[in-house]
Amino acid sequence: MTFTELGLAPALLRAITAEGYDTPTPIQQQAIPLAMLGHDLLAGAQTGTGKTAAFTLPMLHRLAMTASAKNKFGGIGTRVLVLTPTRELAAQVEESVRTYGKFLQLTSTVIFGGVGMNPQISALRKGVDILVATPGRLLDLQEQGKLDLSTVQMLILDEADRMLDMGFLPDIRRVLALVPKQKQTLLFSATFSDEIRTLAQGLLHNPKSIQVTPSNTTVQRITQSQHLVGRGKKKALLTHIIQQHNWSQVLVFTRTKFGANSVAEHLTKHGIPALALHGNKSQAARTQALQGFKDGTIRALVATDIAARGIDIDDLPHVVNYEIPNVSEDYVHRIGRTGRAGASGEAVSLVSLDEEGFFEAIERFTKQRIERVPMPDFAPEPGERAEPIAMGRQTIWGGAGRPPPREVMQAAAKAAMQEMRQRLNERPPRARAGGSGAGGGAPRPAGGGGAGNRAPAGGKARTPAGGGRPSLGKPQSARPQNYR
Ligand code: AMP
Repeated sequence: MTFTELGLAPALLRAITAEGYDTPTPIQQQAIPLAMLGHDLLAGAQTGTGKTAAFTLPMLHRLAMTASAKNKFGGIGTRVLVLTPTRELAAQVEESVRTYGKFLQLTSTVIFGGVGMNPQISALRKGVDILVATPGRLLDLQEQGKLDLSTVQMLILDEADRMLDMGFLPDIRRVLALVPKQKQTLLFSATFSDEIRTLAQGLLHNPKSIQVTPSNTTVQRITQSQHLVGRGKKKALLTHIIQQHNWSQVLVFTRTKFGANSVAEHLTKHGIPALALHGNKSQAARTQALQGFKDGTIRALVATDIAARGIDIDDLPHVVNYEIPNVSEDYVHRIGRTGRAGASGEAVSLVSLDEEGFFEAIERFTKQRIERVPMPDFAPEPGERAEPIAMGRQTIWGGAGRPPPREVMQAAAKAAMQEMRQRLNERPPRARAGGSGAGGGAPRPAGGGGAGNRAPAGGKARTPAGGGRPSLGKPQSARPQNYR
């Protein structure tokens, strides 16, 4: 089956060709014709199956065929609302809407918590055809009278199971009360718990159920492993792994921009051409780094979570978690960069004693055990103990077991601040005045710097999408707030 046979609008077919897709994935083959006909859908599909295009393409097709609407502010009325559990997913979905809709005259925007509200308010006043949002911020805007969902004709719930896992059910119900009863609804979920089925029963009218086979899922196609590694041995182990397997294209994740620079330098010095990719780089430098990575002159790209989002490569063979994320869902996003659209992938995590607790949380969050492969030459030194991790002004505990007493954490934070000041003083004065630093990412004392790759603008500690409503899954919420 081809995309043309699915009967999609020519403007969509052009965009699909521009993306280089020639065959619809199984979920697309099933979902697109049904959704184009206006059916409600209960769809079982995981990330990596092409699910985003499976709902975005028919949604755009229907919008292109129908007249636009007006909102109560006199702007464009929202005809499609897509709800997602996280801000990252919301941003990705809206990006897909733009990609597939680039030859159509439709407008879209994305709304999530943790960033300033004013640009979102003015976007809503002007209005958009397609609104992609996390539920929490949407409700905040509703409370302020800035939202009008009365013209919604299609509602899409993406990763509904994760929304429920994250405690969004009450918020979803409140959003449902804001959209018209008469509408088309598409519910996408990787798993089907009783809770999801109850939600679906109340929400969907005579839905068509579709499911892609679990063997096609990302998680099963990505080989995941972890090595327990000594604190000072990570760079050597990373170099060893890349050389041993002769990897030619690997994406390496670090927690900070500073870390990204230092890892990239180390690899390059050891014969593996590498570049760091992070927010401090100019757009030209980023484009050059990506081009080098694509054409093979750069073997390793070292990136922070935020920077990695801009990497548009569909079939990355290898991902290394050089540092383990303290937010479990970041792990899922990171490894989701490999094993896409049918390709197989490999994700390796280098876990220090300081990060064992983070990794355990990831295993609980993803409901899987990840094989630990011993690397005796790179193991922690006898007597090496977990230590708190400095992130900007904060110090967080990522070791296994309970965090040490407050005084120990405070002392560690103080030592980290001293080290940071020292590092800032070692830099040329211009870089110091500039704050974020030309040298690349020594932590900023404003609470956003070294942790800047994870703290949203405004220096607030990272909160789940929706501005801190529900917690990020059970394992995370077990951690006292001040350690996050
Ligand atoms: P998703 O499951 O929506 O996260 O999509 C996974 C990846 O598959 C994305 O990077 C898409 O760009 C890609 N993709 C989606 N549909 C197709 C297709 N029909 N052919 C090739 N790649 C696709």
